[in-house]
Amino acid sequence: MLLNAHNHLKSITTDHLQQWLTATQLQAQSGKLPTYIPVLSQIQPDLLAVTIQTNSSSSVELGDVAKPFVLMSLIKPFLLLFLLVRVGHEAVFSRVGITPSDQSFHSIAQLSSDRGRPRNPMINSGAIFLASLLPGNSPTSRCESLRYWLNQSAGCNLILDEEMLSSVRSLGNETNRSIANLLKCAGYLDDIDLVIETYNQICCLSGTVVDLARLGLLIALPHPIISFQDQHIVNSLMMTCGLYESSSEYAMRIGLPIKSGVSGGLIAIVPKAGAIAIYSPAIDETGNSVGGLFLLEQLVHVHKLSLFQTG
Ligand code: GLN
Repeated sequence: MLLNAHNHLKSITTDHLQQWLTATQLQAQSGKLPTYIPVLSQIQPDLLAVTIQTNSSSSVELGDVAKPFVLMSLIKPFLLLFLLVRVGHEAVFSRVGITPSDQSFHSIAQLSSDRGRPRNPMINSGAIFLASLLPGNSPTSRCESLRYWLNQSAGCNLILDEEMLSSVRSLGNETNRSIANLLKCAGYLDDIDLVIETYNQICCLSGTVVDLARLGLLIALPHPIISFQDQHIVNSLMMTCGLYESSSEYAMRIGLPIKSGVSGGLIAIVPKAGAIAIYSPAIDETGNSVGGLFLLEQLVHVHKLSLFQTG
């Protein structure tokens, strides 16, 4: 009998995960911690946690699952989802594109050559613009509206990591400020300070792999307050843009919607089945978790989880 993705994902046990732990830790050694955020550069590089969530009360977990980490760019798909639900498709996609970029997630050259139009919501320009659409008068109330909605809708427990936020602020944020400035010149936003602080705060929302996997379920399974169309949009943009310049390579190698963050978190969606969240802090040059992508690729191959699996 041919099993579907749901059954394949459900059949994975902690023993299956355990088999890959040592090899993943070895692979992760070839990655590096990001140096541009001081606190992130001090994280223990050999941390490793993985969880597979097939519904809100059923998960398989292994490793440092209680260790919280900041979401960084992992917030981007969920920022997009919230805004699709709150302000709608037109308000979002009349201003931000859906085209992949072959340049880095904070490329100023890309934004300049696009004459200030953010290319997609999974890179910094797109997410900084989207942060300007969040409801609220201050960065704190804007971050809080997103945090509250995500915690309520996903049953997770994200909190703002104030120490990381100070660390992010300590370096002046020149690249993201230049991006915001270009967005302002092109008429996409008004208040650079407001939007940069909002963006920094939402990137510093922190949770465990279990919280991350629960966020993933928002777009993996039917949800009472999220439409199938909005889930489809977020999943497709994760598939095409979620790993930046490496997105098409991993669409072929893994075949699932995936999003990474420079903190080393990774979320993969198995539509109609569940979500896999991994934390392994060392990243490659593109900003994707080395251990995370390795482990995910093994799990997808062995357990036949790719969306393009035909046999
Ligand atoms: N806050 C980080 C930044 O803007 C997020 C980037 C990432 O995770 N790729 O640089």
